[in-house]
Amino acid sequence: MRIRGVQRMRLWGRMLRNRLAPGALILLYHRINELPTDPQLLNVRPGHFRKHLEILRKVAQPISLREFMNAHRERRKLRRVFMVTFDDGYRDNLELAKPLLEEYQAPATVSVASGYVGENREFWWDELERLLLTPGKLPYQFQIRIRERVLNFDLGAYSTYSVSDAKRYAFWNVAHPVCPTSRHSAYLVLYSELRTTNVAARDEALRELRLLAGDGATARADYLAMDRQEIRQLRNGGLIEIAAHSVNHPCLSCISPAEQQSEIRNSKTDLEKLLGIDVQGFAYPFGASADYDSHSLHFVGRSGFDWALSNYPAMASFHTDRFQLPRVLVGDWNGPKFTHFLREWV
Ligand SMILES: [Zn+2]
Repeated sequence: MRIRGVQRMRLWGRMLRNRLAPGALILLYHRINELPTDPQLLNVRPGHFRKHLEILRKVAQPISLREFMNAHRERRKLRRVFMVTFDDGYRDNLELAKPLLEEYQAPATVSVASGYVGENREFWWDELERLLLTPGKLPYQFQIRIRERVLNFDLGAYSTYSVSDAKRYAFWNVAHPVCPTSRHSAYLVLYSELRTTNVAARDEALRELRLLAGDGATARADYLAMDRQEIRQLRNGGLIEIAAHSVNHPCLSCISPAEQQSEIRNSKTDLEKLLGIDVQGFAYPFGASADYDSHSLHFVGRSGFDWALSNYPAMASFHTDRFQLPRVLVGDWNGPKFTHFLREWV
């Protein structure tokens, strides 16, 4: 049985190698961690990430974005290569991802939202989760203002969210078709509102919610971005490259051109000041085609970036627009599921 299993694995490996021929595969990760909940599906457990690297290493060659861009400039064809990228700049990229990237000698690019570096606050989507989907108390009914609009919420029985409630609904994420409680419905409404408004309105809405929750803005240690020293440490060894990812992580197409310009330019200069290097890459926050527009492309091109990463599934080649490189989002999949994913879409 065991030998047949090994043979089957080898066969799969050969099939994958043959399929992974045209162009380069750019993988998108966010976090490598063990977390109690993952409503936005951003996390991959360390054991699964190790498996992904092991499988990738068998079927393709890891390269850096820098190497990819050299091939892009020279209009050189790439075959059976992959790149690993991380967005946002979570601290676990240093603590849990880097050792595995080193073990498998896989270069990676980490795109950092510079406004969160060294801040004792969570990324806005994590803070929203903490305020609504971790144990705590909110009024039965409340209002949140987002610019000129007033949103009304009625939490009813879930005004108090207990430890056992949080445990019971820990499985929930945005892909789940049903909201199990009024808090989950409120989370979805607010997430979509905050994602599409500007940074000032978003921060003000979160401040209102913190006040209502009587929350002292106690950030969870596991949800923090790296600080300045940690970003430098992440680069040590030369395997990991840093790219920009805006300052405050807004949806760029949802804010004014002037706001876009400052988000894009300042994220570059912030990181350059911090690292003393030229930051060449940018990753659009959220990254789907609706999340940036012609102004974003203009400002990224004019700010001195050499390339930019989007978030749509395709293979990258020298034909690809270097300011809209495709990426494939990876989930918290075990080995067989990851193998299936590679086989399915390549
Ligand atoms: Zn991001």
